[in-house]
Amino acid sequence: MINRQTKTDVILIGAGIMSATLGTMLKELAPDWEITVFEKLANAGEESSNEWNNAGTGHAALCELNYTVEKKDGTIDISKAIKINEQFQLSKQFWAYLVSSKLIRNPQDFIMPLPHMSLVQGESNVAFLRNRFEALSNNPLFQGMEFSDDTAKLSEWIPLIMKGRTTNEPMAATKIDTGTDVNFGALTRILLDHLKSKNVAIQYKHSVDDLKRTKDGLWELKVRNMQSGTVERHSAKFVFIGGGGGSLHLLQKSGIPEGKGIGGFPVSGLFMVCNNPEIVEQHHAKVYGKAPVGAPPMSVPHLDTRYIDNKKTLLFGPFAGFSPKFLKTGSMFDLITSVKPHNLFTMLAAGAKNVPLTRYLIQQVMLSKEKRMKDLRDFVPDAKSADWDLVVAGQRVQVIKDTSHGGKGTLQFGTEVISAADGSIAALLGASPGASTAVHVMLQVIKQCFPQYVKEWEPKIKQMIPSYGVSLAENPELFKEIHASTERTLALNSELQPVV
Ligand SMILES: Cc1cc2nc3c(=O)[nH]c(=O)nc-3n(C[C@H](O)[C@H](O)[C@H](O)COP(=O)(O)OP(=O)(O)OC[C@H]3O[C@@H](n4cnc5c(N)ncnc54)[C@H](O)[C@@H]3O)c2cc1C
Repeated sequence: MINRQTKTDVILIGAGIMSATLGTMLKELAPDWEITVFEKLANAGEESSNEWNNAGTGHAALCELNYTVEKKDGTIDISKAIKINEQFQLSKQFWAYLVSSKLIRNPQDFIMPLPHMSLVQGESNVAFLRNRFEALSNNPLFQGMEFSDDTAKLSEWIPLIMKGRTTNEPMAATKIDTGTDVNFGALTRILLDHLKSKNVAIQYKHSVDDLKRTKDGLWELKVRNMQSGTVERHSAKFVFIGGGGGSLHLLQKSGIPEGKGIGGFPVSGLFMVCNNPEIVEQHHAKVYGKAPVGAPPMSVPHLDTRYIDNKKTLLFGPFAGFSPKFLKTGSMFDLITSVKPHNLFTMLAAGAKNVPLTRYLIQQVMLSKEKRMKDLRDFVPDAKSADWDLVVAGQRVQVIKDTSHGGKGTLQFGTEVISAADGSIAALLGASPGASTAVHVMLQVIKQCFPQYVKEWEPKIKQMIPSYGVSLAENPELFKEIHASTERTLALNSELQPVV
């Protein structure tokens, strides 16, 4: 039985950070457009964007070693690190705009300054880190980074990690104080509250089960009201599929040719959380190590100070694992039902290529708490099992597709916007670097789906994101100015007083 029908300008599927960011941008750019959000859970930011489901790193390549690759000649390629850093600068500028326009009251409700560190052991890793440091420290985006292989200095930076360490193996770290811890769950909720105050209709416990193109060029969604059990039809001129892990199935249901031949590979996650406040107090940084051989880049373990529920906490992980679910609240059939005739060979090729990765992930799932403690003790040598609990993190669905460089069934580790040629629908797939780059990714959605408005919107976009269209790495003076102003507005540097 069909109960309710509506027509609107924009429908956002999913109340995660991506829909929240796009909705907020569109409300600024086109205040008159009607927007509706459908979310199948009871609240916003409950899946990957939730603070307990991701690592909360404002990814700016300040500490993640996988963004800087050692070339054959021993030099370090920093181009990816620059790209990721520039993308995070866009997010910070947009958030600063929201704070200075009073759309967000207190930046510390979602972002905190926190040193970002990389830590390595062993001679060749120390040499790599030194080279990486030298390559990055010449770039304005990474100014202020320090390197040390001196045990006394390291003990000052990371006392918890250095305490009780007995080996003589060389160690080194880099540290940069402009890093951040971001509570993406809190940010998502703040943005959705703001959208609600702007008359955006946010329908929780509403699951989008199907979507199709209508004769008049609109998208019609079949939406199940999970409370009443009734089915509703809602149509819109533009649909954004921001369903996180749920996006692939919805993209497939849309039937657009751009969505064909794409598959998904789910990776689950687990954190260890410290329940002993005395230990929590001894650490103050995000400390990233090097990924073990054979491990996917997003499973690099790190020891992170986090700010959750207004409390300082300490998390270690994420440990990657395998689960066929595409969402934490998803179904065990998600993976199998995502295999369609059009992506069958791509998926089979990916399956054959990624046997070692799958084996690694399955082994990771089977690890006992004591085995995980062993990994933790590489960071905190005298960690006690009783001080740490396991918590299940979110699911990521990595994109699988055929590429010219990787061939059939290549596993991708980035985020990808798939949109229809006419711009009437877009979906976001993939999960890395993820939430940190939401603003960059949503600017991409705007460019791909609203090219006819971009010129008209450009002054407003530049007001929200002053460096829009300009490379900050190539404009050090502009970077200095923007960096100081965002740090001040977001209260990330105590030496810079907020402008009242
Ligand atoms: C373990 C882990 C660690 C991570 N660490 C970081 C990090 O340190 N830094 C970082 O920047 N990023 C990190 N990420 C990535 C980041 O969490 C994601 O990129 C981001 O949260 C994705 O946001 P989203 O809005 O696309 O998806 P989600 O937050 O998952 O939101 C999607 C929403 O859509 C809803 N939905 C799905 N299907 C339907 C449907 N059919 N109908 C209605 N609603 C639907 C879901 O219920 C959900 O609420 C991490 C992710 C994981 C899993």
